[in-house]
Amino acid sequence: MQVVDANLVRSRFSLGGHPQVVEMICPHCLREATFNIRRWTEHAGRIAATETPCPRCNIDVLFMNLVSTVDSPGETTLYAHPDPVGRTPMEGTHYLESLSAPLGRTYDMALKHYNQGDWGSAALLVRHLLEGLATRLLTDTYPEAPLPRQLETLTKGVDLHAPLEDIADMLAPEGVFGKQLQDPTSIGQNAAEQMLELTEQLLSYMVVLPGAMAELKDRIATAPVPLRRGIGMPTPTAVPTPTFSATAG
Ligand SMILES: [Zn+2]
Repeated sequence: MQVVDANLVRSRFSLGGHPQVVEMICPHCLREATFNIRRWTEHAGRIAATETPCPRCNIDVLFMNLVSTVDSPGETTLYAHPDPVGRTPMEGTHYLESLSAPLGRTYDMALKHYNQGDWGSAALLVRHLLEGLATRLLTDTYPEAPLPRQLETLTKGVDLHAPLEDIADMLAPEGVFGKQLQDPTSIGQNAAEQMLELTEQLLSYMVVLPGAMAELKDRIATAPVPLRRGIGMPTPTAVPTPTFSATAG
């Protein structure tokens, strides 16, 4: 049971403080649907539940609305089961926004189209984002180069060593953490937390990113390709290799 994005809740209608209209992709039939909730069953004023059928496939989705009494009293969080379809924004999107506000918006738009099941538009926006990113990150831009070439040259425009050198400096005997580690009893919560955070960043850069990329490459390699034609048949002419265009999108 996961949170339903607040943007999908049409709050202009409400049933005793609980959502009445939820527009989301049905977790059963994967089509965009408007769930019109007729009644909620409340428990102790803290929690409300309802089962509402998808108007397209008629299978029930269980919604649960939790009313907060702790942090922000009265604020509600909507959950759905099965889990809502869609992706939540990656962590750290504010770094992308500060690198380039238009690219931040492109990412938001790509995610929005994806979460609406508009796969083609989402993919085009992703390509547009990659092109923009390549151009933005390169110190010497190659605006005429095709996207694969731009991505290949990315390592020249971005200093990929910098994060590792920073970490090494901090942990060196004379570094900010190196000094403190000589007497661990002096280390407080703040330093321990920063050290943990630093290590987590290192792990995500050195271990998680390569691991996740390798896994993704495996999934891409083994995914069925629906548009591939002529498998098992002799092809009289060479099949043109698909290329990315730097100007489209
Ligand atoms: Zn459905």
